[in-house]
Amino acid sequence: MGVYLGIDIGTSGTKTLAMREDGAILASATREYPLSSPRPGWSEQDPEHWWQATKDSVRRVLKGGRLKPADVAGIGLSGQMHGSVFLDKRHEVVRPALLWNDQRTGDECAEIEQRAGGRQALIGMVANPALTGFTAPKILWLRKHEPRNFDRTVKVLLPKDYVRFRLTGEFATEVSDASGTLLLDVARRRWCGPLLEKLELNASLLPEVFESEEVSGRLTAGAAKELGLASGVPVVGGGGDQAAGAVGNGIVKRGVISATLGTSGVVFAHSDALETDPQGRVHTFCHAVRGKWHVMGVVLSAGGSLQWYRNQFASQEVAQAKRKKVDPYELLTAQAAEAPPGCEGLYFLPYLTGERTPHADPHARGAWIGLSLRHRQPHLVRSVMEGATYAMRDCLEIIEGMNIPVREIRVSGGGARSGFWRQMQADIYGRKVVTTAAEEGPAYGVALLAAAGTGAYKNVVEACTATIELGTGASPDAKAKRIYNRAYPLYGRLYRSLKEDFRAIADVVSGS
Ligand code: ADP
Repeated sequence: MGVYLGIDIGTSGTKTLAMREDGAILASATREYPLSSPRPGWSEQDPEHWWQATKDSVRRVLKGGRLKPADVAGIGLSGQMHGSVFLDKRHEVVRPALLWNDQRTGDECAEIEQRAGGRQALIGMVANPALTGFTAPKILWLRKHEPRNFDRTVKVLLPKDYVRFRLTGEFATEVSDASGTLLLDVARRRWCGPLLEKLELNASLLPEVFESEEVSGRLTAGAAKELGLASGVPVVGGGGDQAAGAVGNGIVKRGVISATLGTSGVVFAHSDALETDPQGRVHTFCHAVRGKWHVMGVVLSAGGSLQWYRNQFASQEVAQAKRKKVDPYELLTAQAAEAPPGCEGLYFLPYLTGERTPHADPHARGAWIGLSLRHRQPHLVRSVMEGATYAMRDCLEIIEGMNIPVREIRVSGGGARSGFWRQMQADIYGRKVVTTAAEEGPAYGVALLAAAGTGAYKNVVEACTATIELGTGASPDAKAKRIYNRAYPLYGRLYRSLKEDFRAIADVVSGS
């Protein structure tokens, strides 16, 4: 049986995983690297670190899985999206890569919207509005602020595609990651000529675009030697980390949605047709499934809100958990269970770091509203979890409003590890939720793409059906569902009532 390697170039490290054709995981290894922030709001990495981490993690996986070079039948690549690697004509890196969370490009986003003929015109061309993290504004930033570096640049690559270049010598990308550059005609799945023209960018800067399961190149003899593999191994397109993670969870069919409640929260839906939100509140990108799309909403502080609560207010529980040798979150969720659904009128707005979906508001802030003398600590902690889950429901509601059915919700992330939070999600979403048996993330998704793209399966949908097993489920409790359905509209109203005040607070803070 063939073995497939999935390599995920993450922000904190690179994870490589070896998967047998039947889906069994044989070994995995992660190698971390630093991130630098030379100025406030800047976020950069040295692409050479990604390559070194790729070599190290691949070698450790081969050793850990007792694999011989001939066992490896294909490689898939995934990675942090939106980053930009600038290469000169000798194919050397011109400057450190700008990452997805770099915030320096506010002016360039405005410039892109203006050159495109407005926000709606831009969404019409590339399906998404300009966000500071995306790649196109980074290229414009280089042109304006480091013109000599821009003049030297002959290629701009995404993080995983730089590693692909080191592996295969090819300049290539695939549709899902390319969607996050803001330069892809997401509807036609190719570079957007008209926008490139308006931005006065040469199309030759960009690599060739493949579908995610297509073979984009083969391992060179030099790279094979460095990695301990055989030369000629096919490397498939792979996917951006969100699309690849979704493949790993089996989100490859209409009606199947994932709700990942980690530090941040992501709601991800497969879509057979291109569906965009006219207000640009959710991202519409090409999916890693051939000829399909996906829609995605992001909650900035989902589990992060509970983490904040734990760190600020739960030192007693943390100490108790240490004595009992259990996870502090277990004690906190047990405490939350003492308060009733809806917390007797107490609401928490989880906007501790502003909000992306649906408000796109960096000034939004967290709040407890509705406090009374009746409220005790269990209400406080439960309201934080409810607020984070309402924020996830906001994403689901937008997706449903875009003609994308929500039939099955697969939950993952820290929030799905807890039975109590799983039940709360079922009650607040008003639908059955289910976990997947193994949670291996993007590296697993691209190993599946590699298996599909090299012929072990007919396509990635068949690969997912054959390998992904479902875990525990939870169905909505009728009474709790009723309470939440009444409480949820008010949650949205509270943000709208406070929106202007959040802005005023930001002005006060910046003026002080
Ligand atoms: P990350 O998103 O950083 O990769 P996770 O997916 O593990 O991390 O999510 C971490 C968050 O999940 C925590 O901040 C917390 O809110 C929540 N979490 C983790 N474990 C539990 C648990 N046992 N019970 C409830 N919530 C949990």
